[in-house]
Amino acid sequence: MTQTSEPDSNLKDRSLQGRKSFFTLALLEWNQIHNRRQMPWKGEKDPYKIWISEIILQQTRVEQGWTYYERFIKKFPNIKALASAPEEEIFKLWEGLGYYSRCRNLIASARILHNNYQDKFPETYQEILELKGIGPYTAAAIASFAFNLPHAVVDGNVFRVISRFFGIEKPINSNEGRKFFVALSEELLDSQNPAAYNQAIMDFGATVCKPVSPLCKECPFKLKCSAYRKNKVAELPIKTNSISKKTRWLNYYLIRCGDGLYIKKRTEKDIWQNLYEFFLVESKSEMCDEQLKNELSSIVSRKQSKMVNISGTYKQKLTHQDLFVRFIELTIDKPIAGLKDFELVKFDQLKRFPFPKLLISFLLEKNVNLSQD
Ligand code: SF4
Repeated sequence: MTQTSEPDSNLKDRSLQGRKSFFTLALLEWNQIHNRRQMPWKGEKDPYKIWISEIILQQTRVEQGWTYYERFIKKFPNIKALASAPEEEIFKLWEGLGYYSRCRNLIASARILHNNYQDKFPETYQEILELKGIGPYTAAAIASFAFNLPHAVVDGNVFRVISRFFGIEKPINSNEGRKFFVALSEELLDSQNPAAYNQAIMDFGATVCKPVSPLCKECPFKLKCSAYRKNKVAELPIKTNSISKKTRWLNYYLIRCGDGLYIKKRTEKDIWQNLYEFFLVESKSEMCDEQLKNELSSIVSRKQSKMVNISGTYKQKLTHQDLFVRFIELTIDKPIAGLKDFELVKFDQLKRFPFPKLLISFLLEKNVNLSQD
């Protein structure tokens, strides 16, 4: 007997294939007709500028990153300028952006590009990926935007759009989920036009299929979008709670002597490496005002110092840590002998040093002038 009906799995495969083709075509059409998103690096072909923009955007919103990008490119217009600039100058320009390991890696990679590649960007995905601070997402962005190489970007926007449209319930922060999304993204990529496809999916995720309040009603995908049809938009993408956060208590003593303040560079492999800070006492739990005052005697004798103020608690959430920070202000009559690694810097010179964002906010609250001349 002749078999006339097709096996179910084949039918499913064909319909999935159809959905994938639809997705790519509809996305590119949306990009051509409706995408109005403007950004200074959009359409850029210079791999150096793309690299700078991508590193800035790794943990920063576009609106905030925009001015940093323009200042960065103005001051360091190419690899050579960045590779030969003093570290402190680069950190100063990065000040306020947070996640300073990005800046450290940027400096290290600029030097590799200067020394090993004669100030030119390598033109293969693999070589780009080997640079410091560049992961698969950034390598794919540089390779596709600058050299039109067929590598799909996979970031938060891509996870969200794809998981919703195809109704994928695999956790995006599991190994298995990640592999699945990467493979599917490579399949969906328009290999003839990877730059346009990559830009389109990121812009679509940022402006239409947003994390909160996506614009489903005006979305060109809505009739075929699995999450929309099944009313699961708010549930996708799925993330497992795997990150356990560390809590840290940082008590900063601002020791003022005349018109100067004691500061020190953070050199340990830790948050804020290479930035400057005040005298730090880190504790395992919150310290009350009395304990903070008692701790003073380990720095300077009570007779020589005068307590001015103890601040409330400032909080800062980092990816893997929650910081609780207090500032204790004191004045001393004469410089402290033997305060290792510290320098006494005049208040009007503090603007020359890069500080973590939270410390800058506190200094600004105290009306310390940190604006660049
Ligand atoms: S219909 Fe809604 S959830 Fe689905 S792709 Fe469009 S914006 Fe995203």
